[in-house]
Amino acid sequence: MENDAIASLKDLDPAYPVPAVYHFLLQPENQEFLDYVHKDPFGCHVFPGDIENYPLESFFSDMEQGIREAKQIHLWAYIPTCRYRCHFCQFPTVILNPESASAEGIFRDLVDYNIKEARMWLEKVPSLAKAEIGEFNIFGGTPSLLPEPELRRLMDFYYTHFNFSAATLRFEGEPGTLNREYLGILKELGFSKISFGTQSFNDAIIASSGRQHTADECEETIRCAREQGIDWVSVDLIYGMLGQTVDDVKYDIERILALDLSHVVCTKLHMEEFMKTRTGVSGERESLWQKKGLIRTNGMTFPGLGKQYQMRELVEKYLKGNYREHPTMYFHQNHREAEKWKGLITDLDKQYPEVAIGLGGSSKCTRAEAINITHYKQYKQYLDEGRLPIEKSHGISPGQREVNAFKMALSTLIPVDDSVFSKRFSGKSFLKNHIIKTTLEKLQEKKLVVIEQGVVTLTPVGTTLVEAIINTQFTLTDAGQE
Ligand code: SF4
Repeated sequence: MENDAIASLKDLDPAYPVPAVYHFLLQPENQEFLDYVHKDPFGCHVFPGDIENYPLESFFSDMEQGIREAKQIHLWAYIPTCRYRCHFCQFPTVILNPESASAEGIFRDLVDYNIKEARMWLEKVPSLAKAEIGEFNIFGGTPSLLPEPELRRLMDFYYTHFNFSAATLRFEGEPGTLNREYLGILKELGFSKISFGTQSFNDAIIASSGRQHTADECEETIRCAREQGIDWVSVDLIYGMLGQTVDDVKYDIERILALDLSHVVCTKLHMEEFMKTRTGVSGERESLWQKKGLIRTNGMTFPGLGKQYQMRELVEKYLKGNYREHPTMYFHQNHREAEKWKGLITDLDKQYPEVAIGLGGSSKCTRAEAINITHYKQYKQYLDEGRLPIEKSHGISPGQREVNAFKMALSTLIPVDDSVFSKRFSGKSFLKNHIIKTTLEKLQEKKLVVIEQGVVTLTPVGTTLVEAIINTQFTLTDAGQE
């Protein structure tokens, strides 16, 4: 009997070409790729370490060393409030009604705890105070729910305790709350970039995903941002959602082009738990869609894997002339810069440390990484007890540092150049790392990469499957120990 993944792959829209990955994924020897993409966890955000139970003191001393050595860092604060929960969401969130009587206290607490956590980081890692921030992000959740006085208090703290001399500032919001006035405050506070999810430009699909805004509100936010002089606007889209057709995604991309958007993030729907692979930002609990399964709802069905890849190919085809993908999923207009924060942490010549303050944040440097607690009550309890709310920390062994550096570089979709790699690792070629070498041989055989004169380039199928490559192929079992 045909398994679910193959049946899903065979779900194709006859009006569009069969996607290039179709035949690759259908081959029995590529089953592990198919298994990975069928449910698809978040795949290219966290590159876990291999040393379990790593002492926190060692983690902080690694961070101190990493930050001292780095030219810049990426710093982010996470504000987890949302006014509703999207049906695909696994992120740690605090759901509230911003108009309710209790909201003011919750916002005040969130800012207090964020500041408290940041102060503890500054104590544990003194170099953080002087480190040049390349980009500062306020991620969410929906940080644009924060009332103006709390936002100003938060920013006052960060401006006075960290080095913003070279920083760009980026803020995440939601179309329903990023209004003209709020955007004006952001501009005044120094934010030059905003990002928000609309996920689709079709109101029926937006509603079916549980979101409470319209496509018009999204377009209005873009207009208002530009009026305020913020023309760096990144919009998140998801393909694979309830009720979505390949034509719907075509329409989404037509809107992106018509709106002349500087940046767009196109993500495949993630149905696997983030925490299972730990390769995504921390997840807290199952999304509604994970809990219910991909079932028909209100006469709408979920597009199968075959259609999802038709959508992905359509996105690539439509954006090709004007946009470049760097890193995977993140498209930027050709005349614009790529996402700076992603470049700071994943581009092979940088891969600088990243410090995350807030619920579920993940921080890392070359030698170690750690993730924060995702349950808000426990998070507050740790801070009340004077402890940093870190759930787990891992060390990264010397061999794994090379593997992680290579995988991060691969995720950027920029060809991985051995001469750049060897500068990072005291003259050592990536081919001298047994795991990288044997994995590359396998990937070459499968025609997922091409290697020429020490430069590894993903093929078109390799580009589409890069998350699966990174998360299933560079393993000790498959490649043997160094
Ligand atoms: S997807 Fe974003 S906006 Fe929706 S509930 Fe999750 S964090 Fe909030």
